[in-house]
Amino acid sequence: MTIDINAQAKSLVDALLAQPATDQDIELVERQLGRYPRGMVAVGARCVCGRPLAVITRPVLPGGIPFPTTCYLTGPEAVKAASHVEAAGVMQQYNDMLGADEDLKAAYGEAHQLYLAFRHELAVRLGDSEEHIEGTSAGGMPVRVKCLHALLAQSLVMGPGANPIGDLVLERVKDEFDPAICRCTVL
Ligand SMILES: [Zn+2]
Repeated sequence: MTIDINAQAKSLVDALLAQPATDQDIELVERQLGRYPRGMVAVGARCVCGRPLAVITRPVLPGGIPFPTTCYLTGPEAVKAASHVEAAGVMQQYNDMLGADEDLKAAYGEAHQLYLAFRHELAVRLGDSEEHIEGTSAGGMPVRVKCLHALLAQSLVMGPGANPIGDLVLERVKDEFDPAICRCTVL
């Protein structure tokens, strides 16, 4: 089965830009992060209660700052859960798995391509330059695992199958964070 990555990226961006971030979304994310979410264009994933879990940030922030982490994790419970997995030393396991499993490696490479295609589509729609972030995705992709927050964010925004490592993180943290179960503390 071949998935057309560009078509997938386009339909994701279509759906997200059809519902731009509201003032209420931006205020809530500001409380989640403890700072104003500059360049936030849409909520990329929500908790079952409707609160944002991950946001879509434009490729160039106001002021001209290039920003590669297009899918940005904001839900405090999700952020904490990813930090716990990182602290448990699981990133090394994931890196070892990538080194040993050709299928996983290929799927992770596709996650990288999808991330770039998604951002490219966003850049085109918003008129942002990708000059300084071309070829750069997030989380260590395409060959390393460096930030589980970024990979989990991609999985939440793009759904199951988009990022195999993000999917593993999501499965692993289910008892602590699950988008289908509201444990929101920032209200
Ligand atoms: Zn919630």
